[in-house]
Amino acid sequence: MLNLSKGWFFTGLLAFSVLLASISESMGRTFATIGTGGVTGVYYPTGGAIAKMVNEKRSDYDIRLSVESTGGSVYNINAVTSGDLEFGIAQSDLQSQAWNGAGDWEGRAQEKLRSVFGLHPEIITLVAAAESDIRTVQDLKDHRVNIGNPGSGNRANAIDVLTASGVDWENDLRAESLKASEAPRMLQDSRLDAFFYTVGHPNGAINEATSGRRTVRFVPITGLDDFVTEHPYYTVAEIPVDLYPMAENKEPVPSIGVVTTLITSEDVNEDTVYAVAREVIQNFDSFKTLHPALERLKREDLLRGLTAPMHPGAERAFREAGMMP
Ligand code: GLU
Repeated sequence: MLNLSKGWFFTGLLAFSVLLASISESMGRTFATIGTGGVTGVYYPTGGAIAKMVNEKRSDYDIRLSVESTGGSVYNINAVTSGDLEFGIAQSDLQSQAWNGAGDWEGRAQEKLRSVFGLHPEIITLVAAAESDIRTVQDLKDHRVNIGNPGSGNRANAIDVLTASGVDWENDLRAESLKASEAPRMLQDSRLDAFFYTVGHPNGAINEATSGRRTVRFVPITGLDDFVTEHPYYTVAEIPVDLYPMAENKEPVPSIGVVTTLITSEDVNEDTVYAVAREVIQNFDSFKTLHPALERLKREDLLRGLTAPMHPGAERAFREAGMMP
């Protein structure tokens, strides 16, 4: 009896979802999702800003964009190329590796990967307890250090920085695999000595890490000039510490950085990508006001960090704006 009614319930549910799908199809509405990052990072609110701009133009495009919090760049690239998500935010260094079949994608070039536009700069940010003796990357030896969850861009960068600095991340320290959103509280609770986060500034996570009872410092990442020359997607950068007045540092802290990008797949239809690119390009000044980490972006930055071929929908939007190089 119970089984019978369950069966009917699921049949009903199935019929209902088929009905819904056909209604939305007949209405021509397109649903698409942007993969972002942790809720205290910059990807999540940036994805929200993009979605807001496109959704407000429902009468023009009939697109419903939503945002999903995810593990970060590597996760987003894999989800987009496998067709699980239509869009993703991903660091330029990882976009380049995925397209060329390097790093995590060694020998598996992601041919479906397409770029849409460039976004804000991100800095490899190393935060340590001020009471610790951690003043350089080498000092991380024997400490508890969060390098980030699998799927995050910061994990890839932390491993790069440690390796290039002569630190064996698997043996020289206690590497933790926590999400970036969990690390600040763990550092405040003395359950971590330091953490890496590749992120735009300002952001909620670093704000949380620097505003607690335990004073923290930004640790410079230097001495990697050859490494940066060999890997052109990295550039030298400085952490603007004035954004975090409670941190120990009073001068900008040298580090290395990347830029971030919006990515999609060649399988996503041209009109959808066009609508997303067009809204951000055409309303760039209001887009920039939607998060302080986007404030200093310039229009030409929309063309930075794009290693994978540009999706034809994005190309159309840039051409219309007279921006195609
Ligand atoms: N760069 C980080 C990553 O790829 C995400 C930063 C953010 O969410 O703002 O995992």
